[in-house]
Amino acid sequence: MRAVTWTGPRTVAVRDADDPKLEEPTDAIIRVTATAICGSDLHLLDHGATMAVKPGDVLGHEPMGVVEEVGSEVAHIKPGDTVVVPFNISCGACFFCSKQLYSQCETTRGMLGDKKGASLFGYTHLYGGVDGGQAEYLRVPQAHFGPIKVDLDEVPELGALLLSDVLPTAWQAVEYADVVPGGTLAIYGLGPIGQMATSIALHKGAGRVIGIDRFADRLSMAEKRGAEVVDYTDVDDIADSVRDMTDGRGADAVIDAVGMDADGSFADRLFQTLKIQPDRFAALHAALASCRRGGNVSVSGVYAMWMLNFPIGDLFDKQISLRWGQANVRRWTDELYALLRDGDPLDAAGLVTNVAPLEQAPEWYDRFKKKEDGVIKVVLRP
Ligand code: NAD
Ligand code: ZN
Ligand code: ZN
Repeated sequence: MRAVTWTGPRTVAVRDADDPKLEEPTDAIIRVTATAICGSDLHLLDHGATMAVKPGDVLGHEPMGVVEEVGSEVAHIKPGDTVVVPFNISCGACFFCSKQLYSQCETTRGMLGDKKGASLFGYTHLYGGVDGGQAEYLRVPQAHFGPIKVDLDEVPELGALLLSDVLPTAWQAVEYADVVPGGTLAIYGLGPIGQMATSIALHKGAGRVIGIDRFADRLSMAEKRGAEVVDYTDVDDIADSVRDMTDGRGADAVIDAVGMDADGSFADRLFQTLKIQPDRFAALHAALASCRRGGNVSVSGVYAMWMLNFPIGDLFDKQISLRWGQANVRRWTDELYALLRDGDPLDAAGLVTNVAPLEQAPEWYDRFKKKEDGVIKVVLRP
């Protein structure tokens, strides 16, 4: 089969790879029909070597496709069904899965045992070293639980694809932000996650969303989704601007949908390169500073390492609550599927800006990474 592989720092290539086979009775094999590129893939592109990605690893964790084969213990899907595959691989039955903390599944952990959560598709040997879904075929472990059967007569295809990651991640970000009804939510980062968090927050009863980014197309998409938007490069101090927009107090809740590659100062970049502070925290610092006393900060942006200058004194003094982590995908997908079926009020399908052949993956990784105008969510077709 053809597959998108990591080939070294900042490069991916479409190469021949072995066709996957059933290995366990709980496996399924799917023929991939659509597979998205995620902001999380960009972290791998840049830091693959330090994140235990090996040359030749197949990337991708946002696939959907048609079931080709299932193992003897897979009952809820059968060959010919269309399914979306959640990015985390969960057994559905362990201690953590029974608490719906599917991203913490202890059955599928990789080589680091309890030091890392559930295995992920196409996301480093720290998370199981499982081949990803940017390929013609995919082996799906724990397929008796994970794959979501979708009926393309009742839901939009590209909206359904986002059940693999973007929709549940944005939904969990909003749940964890727990903004008071009618309250104000500030969202740092208007990539796919920030866009869908905007629509979800307003759908669930937030009064205002303040969306923050620096790219005109991303700001304008969020504005269409109902946000008031601020270009953080237009203001001296973005947290001060958020406070100015909220009676001097700060937002009731704040989402960081940026993560470890946030734009920041020259010093941030230098510290990251020298591994003095391997993640960049400009967005998280601003998010924490934008939250009002007693408010909630919800972090969906991925962080991998450690943070110097953690503002613990301010967080203590302001009584800020902090929640974060990878999305527990299956926890939220039934509710989201129902919304897709009921006319897609979140306009999930409208998030996808570009659909391209799998063979063009290197070019589209590059255009997505550069945040080219109009390139917000890219879907590849094998
Ligand atoms: P993306 O790269 O398309 O979007 C990130 C956005 O943040 C960009 O538009 C960028 O301009 C903006 N940005 C950068 N620095 C900023 C700053 N200092 N202030 C404000 N905005 C800034 O990515 P995405 O696909 O939307 O993903 C967003 C984050 O969520 C990534 O870190 C990704 O890894 C993470 N993610 C987490 C989960 C999870 O389960 N928690 C799932 C999917 C994605
Ligand atoms: Zn993703
Ligand atoms: Zn489990």
